[in-house]
Amino acid sequence: MNEIKAKVLVVEDEEPIRRFITLNLSAAGYEIGEADTGEKALAMLGSFRPEVIVLDLMLPGIGGLEVCRQVREKMPETFVIMLTAKGQDTDKILGLELGADDYMVKPFNPIELTARIKAMLRRSPHFKTENYILACDDLLLDLAANKFFKNHSEIELTPTEFALLKMFMENQGKALERNEMLNVVWGENYYGDTKTLDVHIRRLREKLEDNPSEPEYIKTVWGRGYRWQAGTRRSKP
Ligand code: CA
Repeated sequence: MNEIKAKVLVVEDEEPIRRFITLNLSAAGYEIGEADTGEKALAMLGSFRPEVIVLDLMLPGIGGLEVCRQVREKMPETFVIMLTAKGQDTDKILGLELGADDYMVKPFNPIELTARIKAMLRRSPHFKTENYILACDDLLLDLAANKFFKNHSEIELTPTEFALLKMFMENQGKALERNEMLNVVWGENYYGDTKTLDVHIRRLREKLEDNPSEPEYIKTVWGRGYRWQAGTRRSKP
């Protein structure tokens, strides 16, 4: 990994929890920014420019979901990990729909949070030096510029969607197991559930497939995972 210190913005209104997270992440070597409201977090985006945001869902004023939505709009390359409480399953799924990369349920082990951030940064465009282009039909993934194009138009992807698409395009025609995908994209020893993966896949299909309910590229392999179907594009009149 690069020697540049990655920046993590911790957004949490409950001071003891925020302190606990920031102490652990500082000890792991990250530069930390802190915000106790959604408003402050949004105000800090442009100046602090975090690579990762640890975002509590329940905040006074602007809530975590709205912060997540705005982060996706303003800084699509930033990783977002949501913090949820037990029983907030609907919000958890909604957060993933809004583009959060991952979530953790409180109370959580700080070692696991650190491990997940480390895994995310491994696939951050700022901390790697891959500079090739992957292509399939009219889809083009530019790893140097960190951009995705469909039929010459750029489509914005979240970092997780980008990593998934890269994995697919590097393994065209091969069935990929759900667990294998979780390991590659979220890092080894990932304890999350495969539902998270399925939400990201659905969003990716919505972005790149002509008809997401009858996907041409990302095929479901029942009971196992997914497979990228290469070169199916018929010539159009
Ligand atoms: Ca809270």
